[in-house]
Amino acid sequence: PLPVLAVVGRPNVGKSTLVNRIIGRREAVVQDKPGVTRDRVTYEAEWAGRRFKVVDTGGWEQDVLGLDASVAAQAEFAIETADAVVFVVDSTVGATDTDEAVVKLLRRAGKPVVLCANKVDGQSGEADATALWSLGLGEPHPVSSLHGRGTGDMLDAVLEAL
Ligand code: GDP
Ligand code: MG
Repeated sequence: PLPVLAVVGRPNVGKSTLVNRIIGRREAVVQDKPGVTRDRVTYEAEWAGRRFKVVDTGGWEQDVLGLDASVAAQAEFAIETADAVVFVVDSTVGATDTDEAVVKLLRRAGKPVVLCANKVDGQSGEADATALWSLGLGEPHPVSSLHGRGTGDMLDAVLEAL
């Protein structure tokens, strides 16, 4: 079976946009409204000649559970079923309490985590990415999922983690 990569993070940080980049299609559901991914959707992807599955997690439990519990549930799902996790943070917002809570779950699980500092659309955003070293998850990978900036370097790190 193919290795599984789960993409987790708060609503609106750009998970689905990143998944679209990874799979090279406009299929994962992206909208300005948080929580628009109604289910966990699995796609097949390939990078540098290696195939893997990528799971876009969303906010379908949000209405019922509330934000923090919903994001935690996604993280727990990822921890149980994935071989590696991409944790997406909105670098223009910085680390929130919800992000910190997910970090705790991820660190306890011991699965490899690649930290995606998303929405670094240009050079001026690099400092925001650097600030995310504070999460204690290692190197923040500056990425613009919207424009494709930095996604290749991040995927190289993903392949090492898978
Ligand atoms: P999700 O809820 O985490 O799946 O987030 P989405 O992928 O649906 O994206 C939420 C919003 O952030 C959308 O308006 C995206 O266009 C926007 N977005 C995603 N990635 C980037 C990025 O790299 N840069 C900028 N500027 N906006 C982004
Ligand atoms: Mg989404």
